Amino acid sequence: MQDLIDQGCAFPASAAAHSLHLERLAEQHRPRAMFIACSDARLVPSLLTAVRPGDLYELRTHRGVVPPYDAKKPTGESRTIAYAVDELGVADIVVCGHSDCDVVTAAMHDNRRVSGVTGCAEESVPLSEDVTAAGHWHALTQLDALSDCPCVAPRLADRSLRLHAWFQEPDTGATLAHHPRASTFLPL
Ligand SMILES: [Zn+2]
Repeated sequence: MQDLIDQGCAFPASAAAHSLHLERLAEQHRPRAMFIACSDARLVPSLLTAVRPGDLYELRTHRGVVPPYDAKKPTGESRTIAYAVDELGVADIVVCGHSDCDVVTAAMHDNRRVSGVTGCAEESVPLSEDVTAAGHWHALTQLDALSDCPCVAPRLADRSLRLHAWFQEPDTGATLAHHPRASTFLPL
């Protein structure tokens, strides 16, 4: 823990050394994109995208799940998405899955249909020996849930918002993006 404390203490000087103008961050919050990903510590969005403070609005959730929208019971995730879309006006949202995601991997090893991986009781990981394919499917399922959010649909309709599904492989550093027309994930 002490190393984290030390880094926190040193951050102002470190930021200055890297030409991060922190005072400007107090003036506005206008991130370029939203990034939704699993909380897995091996996946580091800011490192992956080389963004600077203020550029990326992040939502990290267990398993990278985007829960189904429920107007009667809005979740913290849905409120965070609505804030990004309606208040911050982000133009792009990336949903990023990753390899070796514990839950997806466990579901495949159990060789059974596991409800609740996506947060939707009616959805389940398809039976398959291909863990990577299951991981891709999981990311796309979250993109579908995102599309169903009432704040997202109108922005998609007027083309002021774009959704992207990525898949990151922490062990190789490679990142893939889903190409809808080809129905496959290809390297960025
Ligand atoms: Zn994960």
